[in-house]
Amino acid sequence: MKPKNIKHLQGRARNLKAHILNRNVIIVESTTTPTANHVVTVEYDSEGTIHTRCTCPWAMNGGIACAHTLAALEALAAKRGRALSFWESRDEARRQKHRTFYLAGRKQDEGLWITSRSGL
Ligand SMILES: [Zn+2]
Repeated sequence: MKPKNIKHLQGRARNLKAHILNRNVIIVESTTTPTANHVVTVEYDSEGTIHTRCTCPWAMNGGIACAHTLAALEALAAKRGRALSFWESRDEARRQKHRTFYLAGRKQDEGLWITSRSGL
């Protein structure tokens, strides 16, 4: 399960405060509840694939790339002076000619492609 409109969601994620504990754990504010946070964990494998988990209902139901996860990944990238874009297909991502990662989904072919460029 992945979001229907990743670009729109990425816009929403930009307004979320993310607190990086380390490269694997990021605390992100809830989109709906001002008194709540979500915990996002990020794991990287050697092939450039990123595996994420979040505590929100979307993620609990098998969804990837919730607003919290996007905010967490953006915060990690920003720390290194990078900005991210998210893509539905490998071809779209490849066309950007930037460094490419794969955000793994619960099932195969449920993932999203991420490109990383310098600057913000
Ligand atoms: Zn979430």
